[in-house]
Amino acid sequence: MVPAVTSRVDSAKALVAAASREFGDSLAVLTSFQREGVVIIDLVMQAEIRVPVMTIDTGRLPAATLEMIETIEARYGITVERILPDPNEVAAMVSQHGRDLFYEGIAQRSLCCNVRKVRPLARRMAGMAAYFTGLRREQSESRAAVEAVDRTGSPVRISPLADWTAEDVAAYSLAQGLPEHPLYSAGYTSIGCDPCTRAVNPGEDERAGRWWWETDADKECGLHFSPDGRVERTVDVFLRDVLTQAGSAKQGLSE
Ligand code: SF4
Repeated sequence: MVPAVTSRVDSAKALVAAASREFGDSLAVLTSFQREGVVIIDLVMQAEIRVPVMTIDTGRLPAATLEMIETIEARYGITVERILPDPNEVAAMVSQHGRDLFYEGIAQRSLCCNVRKVRPLARRMAGMAAYFTGLRREQSESRAAVEAVDRTGSPVRISPLADWTAEDVAAYSLAQGLPEHPLYSAGYTSIGCDPCTRAVNPGEDERAGRWWWETDADKECGLHFSPDGRVERTVDVFLRDVLTQAGSAKQGLSE
């Protein structure tokens, strides 16, 4: 019997190739250098698809992630594109709410993710047709319905590992000798910004270490899934004030 991971690898490779045929140059890899992201980069590089590999450098990344960027650049001979937040928007947000505003509530945390991640990505992706992510359904409840190809938004989101298990990812990584983010060996199972991520305890959800002080919110930053309506409205109010002070256009409040 063919092991499941083999067929999933074949399916992922087929999807990567199909995406390249459909979207050509208007395609990118978006990664934060977790295990899944490194698998995606490897699949794309092995297929010799020359599309930009991008990461969002929020300004709050752990040093180990910055090391991973260099490791990936050296392994594949590429330059990772760093998507940066607007410095004026960051300055306005920090002056209004403080640098560590995310500990104050879900709306403040969403504001920070919006300014440091969602808006910079939306600016960079404007006009782009599609991007690859390493999302897997098994990662959390909020990701349980992830489609391999999600055409509901723009750009199209392609998740070749949507049906992979954590064991599939580990097996592929081992087989290909892929580099691993150093924080995994410190007990992390999901890795984001330094102040918002911790190691997890045995038996905890894979994303339990993200914004661990929040008890009733999805462990999502708004890049792939929107916060609920009540939080979204509060974030919009905060964001309007930030953009006014920053002198940014009012557009993008619901990006
Ligand atoms: Fe801000 Fe934390 Fe979101 Fe990073 S993960 S953008 S520091 S709230």
